[in-house]
Amino acid sequence: MDLFEHQGKEFFAQYGMPVSAGEATFSVDEAVAAAERLGTPVMVKAQVHTGGRGKAGGVKFAADIDAVREHAGNILGLDINGHIVQRLWIEKASDIAEEYYASFTLDRSAKKHLGMLSKEGGVEIETVAEENPDAIAKIWVDPVDGLDEEVTRAWVAAANLPEAAVEGTVDILQKLYTAYTEGDADLVEINPLILTPEGNVHVLDAKVTLDGNSEYRHEDYAQYDETQPRDEREEAAHAKGLQYVGLEGSVGVIANGAGLAMSTVDVVNQVGGSPANFLDIGGGANADVMAGALEVINNDPAVKSIFINIFGGITRGEEVANGIIEAMNRVAIDSPIVIRLDGTNADEGRAILAPNLDDKLMMEETMLDAARKAVELAS
Ligand code: GDP
Ligand code: MG
Repeated sequence: MDLFEHQGKEFFAQYGMPVSAGEATFSVDEAVAAAERLGTPVMVKAQVHTGGRGKAGGVKFAADIDAVREHAGNILGLDINGHIVQRLWIEKASDIAEEYYASFTLDRSAKKHLGMLSKEGGVEIETVAEENPDAIAKIWVDPVDGLDEEVTRAWVAAANLPEAAVEGTVDILQKLYTAYTEGDADLVEINPLILTPEGNVHVLDAKVTLDGNSEYRHEDYAQYDETQPRDEREEAAHAKGLQYVGLEGSVGVIANGAGLAMSTVDVVNQVGGSPANFLDIGGGANADVMAGALEVINNDPAVKSIFINIFGGITRGEEVANGIIEAMNRVAIDSPIVIRLDGTNADEGRAILAPNLDDKLMMEETMLDAARKAVELAS
């Protein structure tokens, strides 16, 4: 779950990290009222689930109330990387001496948490990584050991932060690590972490991704769930209990098992096509599940062909075949379907499908041939 900046700051504040006072608002009038309460100057900041807001004109300094009105009016409704701004964060403006970067995320191959700290903050970290990789001090933290103060100090020293910033940064990094681990986050990022002219270290931007699977142990995470960007296709699929991820292409994909579904998406790409979705119908692909999957895919106007890729394990071929036939009787499918059926009782399944094959329902021997056929039909 991706948090808005202001939610991320509220999350950080719960762990004792210094953030600026501010208010979330949804209209120009609300923004003006918030600025009056906070006192100018303030920052007017677009709240969208994407970065680079500053560059896109979504982060503005407002010296007085007139400027708040003007900027709020301009930023609301702005399209930032395809995200339309509907909410603003009005925050007390800070004076900046220097901008740093700090983050924690999981390094899966190292099986450790990866912390990154850089003196070169404010800009995109990808750019720093490319142009000046030595400017990023990295640390790998074993989750069993945790991150103690001594190690944190050595890390901050490696990043060459000025003396004035050391104490504040050590304190924030330790709290950031606690927020990241105890809060079940996949990513916490502060860019920029600032040093003020008075010598305070302070969080100025927050990017937080929480592990949605941990919601059961964080009652307050339901509020973040509600503000996730919605894909209508995904909502319809999840309501039917299907594991579905919407993509941009034209070949609808149905497979049993997440691994096979991912391979299917890969193979469609490999033969020059482009998948419209990832859909794992799981084990026990009965008619209900198959009908639901076909319905969700059929409702996507971008879909031009459907590739059903089943490798029976516990799922038996004849059940899948019956499921497909029954589903097609229930749902009028607009696009041609290509099936690859293998594994447990595949012969029985193919025998059931054979009399039903025509130019709307086709069968191929192998996954690769089926992918080729589906891509050819989609183009
Ligand atoms: P992003 O562009 O989405 O990463 O949004 P940020 O919140 O990081 O803001 C972008 C830039 O705006 C920061 O790097 C700062 O340079 C600037 N900025 C943000 N807040 C303040 C503030 O309170 N005071 C000043 N002077 N600049 C700010
Ligand atoms: Mg930023």
